[in-house]
Amino acid sequence: MSYIIVCNECGVEFNSIDKLKTIVEDNDHNDTILEEKRTCPECGEVDNFQLIEQNNPKWEDDSIQFPRLLAEINACVDISLLDWQKLQESMNLSEGNILDLFERANQKWEMIKKSVQAGVISKKYK
Ligand SMILES: [Zn+2]
Repeated sequence: MSYIIVCNECGVEFNSIDKLKTIVEDNDHNDTILEEKRTCPECGEVDNFQLIEQNNPKWEDDSIQFPRLLAEINACVDISLLDWQKLQESMNLSEGNILDLFERANQKWEMIKKSVQAGVISKKYK
């Protein structure tokens, strides 16, 4: 299950809150209380969004999520700390073969990311 954010004004959907522009407003014009607000990059509406739970076909797709998981493990974890001997024995592969799998996962994930239009999933009009 994942969430999308929908602008209540123009109906454009976003896959992440990070895609919304952030503005910081001086709430009391005194530089003491600053309020962070989210604005719709499509129509400029401020703080008028709803969160919709949805079944995400990309989330269900193993051919997307498995390379993603491997690529992110490779990026976030020091894989030199893996028990390489155990892994090689378990997979009956050389260290080079396993590193090759990580690299292939990286390349696949980069291709997937490029194929997904950044930020905006779809446009709906009232
Ligand atoms: Zn909007």
